[in-house]
Amino acid sequence: MVRTRFAPSPTGYLHIGGLRTAIYNYLIAKKTGGDYILRIEDTDQTRYVEGSVENLVAVLGKCNVRHAEGPMLDENGNIYQVGPYGPYYQSERLDIYAKFAKQLVDEGKAYYCFCSQERLAALREEQTKQGLTPKYDSKCSHLTKEEVQAKLDAGESHVIRMKLPENEDVTFEDGVRGTVTINTKDIDEQVLMKADGFPTYHFAVVIDDRHMKITHVIRGEEWLVSTPKHILLYKYFGWEAPQFVHLPTVLNKNKKKLSKRDGSAAVEDFLQKGYLPEAIINYITMLGWSMPDGKEIFSLDEAAAEFDLGRLSKAGAVFDVDKLNWVNSHYIKEMPDNELAELVKTYLAGKYDVIAEDEEKLLYFTSCIKDRVSYLEQVTLEAEEMLAEPKEVTSEEGLEAKAFETNPQLYAALVELIEKEDKLTPEVMKAVFKTIQKEYKIKGKNLYMGARIALTGEVHGADIQLIMCILGKDEVLKRIKAAM
Ligand code: GLU
Repeated sequence: MVRTRFAPSPTGYLHIGGLRTAIYNYLIAKKTGGDYILRIEDTDQTRYVEGSVENLVAVLGKCNVRHAEGPMLDENGNIYQVGPYGPYYQSERLDIYAKFAKQLVDEGKAYYCFCSQERLAALREEQTKQGLTPKYDSKCSHLTKEEVQAKLDAGESHVIRMKLPENEDVTFEDGVRGTVTINTKDIDEQVLMKADGFPTYHFAVVIDDRHMKITHVIRGEEWLVSTPKHILLYKYFGWEAPQFVHLPTVLNKNKKKLSKRDGSAAVEDFLQKGYLPEAIINYITMLGWSMPDGKEIFSLDEAAAEFDLGRLSKAGAVFDVDKLNWVNSHYIKEMPDNELAELVKTYLAGKYDVIAEDEEKLLYFTSCIKDRVSYLEQVTLEAEEMLAEPKEVTSEEGLEAKAFETNPQLYAALVELIEKEDKLTPEVMKAVFKTIQKEYKIKGKNLYMGARIALTGEVHGADIQLIMCILGKDEVLKRIKAAM
């Protein structure tokens, strides 16, 4: 049975590339009826950010990428763990790593290293000066058993390093890159256990993937070069290695790794701006994979039905906000008005309460803007423009509209008809415009632009009848009278 995992470090936010990794792990498990699990790789305590697991689980949940095992959130926002292979936090598995590290030392496949930071720094500096790739020089692997014991007894600070065979090719099949071969000359004798008793990522990942029965390791390609170390560790333990799939990096438009500094790397920032989770998922799934029929709008379930690791792209995927905007506006347009209105309300609340607090106006507003915005935060600008006093007309088209011969008659008719009404609704406005067309023979541009220029100072924009409903009777009369 397929078992996959997403194994982020809790460093504060969910990276777009991380979400893509999670999605692909989720999809292949879903497609094959396997399990997808979430594991927290918190071995680097200096990078730990308080609350980041809660945030991570919440964001993944919003996006509907749901894991079967690992940390979950209860209704009160507290974490609890689910699953038979826990704990799912590496920091809670320290005794497991210690035991296996000891086993490797006993078998001569790893060794204690007592070198000081100063020695390692000097070594690195010397090697760099000589144009060599810095790596540990195996000094402590030559200590005798007695020397090691004496140092341990004296309580000297130490790490445990893996031993590497000299000049040996390590080969593995990668699901995206094909056959990958790296020689041990180009690998460092990796620290497995740190001086603080924590494992390094490289050690913990192997122990955990084995013990959590992971069959497919799908992760970012920055880990490709480390995989030979992992393969060797599997070999040292006599364990079968899982299948590896390294995903090309998600790049920004300048073909650099997408970083939080671009302002476009954290999934939560996009959610906050009003990108819909369905749209985010849809778009991110396309960063390195495509539907067999080339369809660009699809749900997570539709993707799961078609997902296939063989279709993963080898090229780095460029994160294109314009394309995401296109996908998001599609989902915004498709959403029923009443549901969308609830979301729109959260962006207007406190700033544009004339709309937010009035259920009818909120609905008019929502239907007005739903094909005008790419993400929901933009509704505040729409509201601001809609409610603002008419601008001074300067454009040629605007001046022309302001000077329509029919305007005086139009404005008089609007005032007369609107004054009779209690409240402006789409039905009322439709009837008013119809009456003007029929009885005053004012039509087309003269009618719509004529009205719009008086009410907004613009010649184009959202549906003018709905804008009138949103402005309300008094404001509409005030503006038309001012134009007269
Ligand atoms: N903790 C690693 C990361 O955050 C996971 C790498 C892996 O999936 O093995 O990138």
